[in-house]
Amino acid sequence: MLTDPNCIFCRVVAGEIPAATVYRDANILAFLDIGPLSDGHVLVIPLGHHEKLSEMPPKLACALAAELPRLAKAARAVTGTEGFNVLVNEGKVAGQEVKHVHFHIVPRRPGDGLGYRWNAGKYPEGRIEQLQAEYRETIAKGSR
Ligand code: AMP
Ligand code: ZN
Repeated sequence: MLTDPNCIFCRVVAGEIPAATVYRDANILAFLDIGPLSDGHVLVIPLGHHEKLSEMPPKLACALAAELPRLAKAARAVTGTEGFNVLVNEGKVAGQEVKHVHFHIVPRRPGDGLGYRWNAGKYPEGRIEQLQAEYRETIAKGSR
């Protein structure tokens, strides 16, 4: 398993930094975020050091995603909330501070002020078809 001694989350996995673990199995760890966006905010990470979701081995991504329903259901039950946001930030530009893949599960409450709508844009004529073609070609060529 990959590990990086300078990575905070690898150190959490190794038990060198304490964390409020709520779930652990052979592949993943879930623990409470110490800087919660809302009460009950949980992080779900692979045990191995992978910086980017886009570079994660698919099988490991599956192992992580497979537990999201159960963990999200627990978040709803524990916090008495009806909904949540699941968020992954990849890259500095997207706000990724810890360079070890993590899924945020953020329980939502009415009027919590967190917001959920980003400013949606509009495509100029032809752009959506151009993007569609580029995506299809790139995905078809992409290796796993
Ligand atoms: P991101 O901006 O997506 O990289 O989010 C990193 C998250 O990790 C933030 O929400 C931090 O509050 C959280 N975090 C950083 N260090 C710890 C830690 N030792 N234990 C729990 N959560 C942490
Ligand atoms: Zn790491």
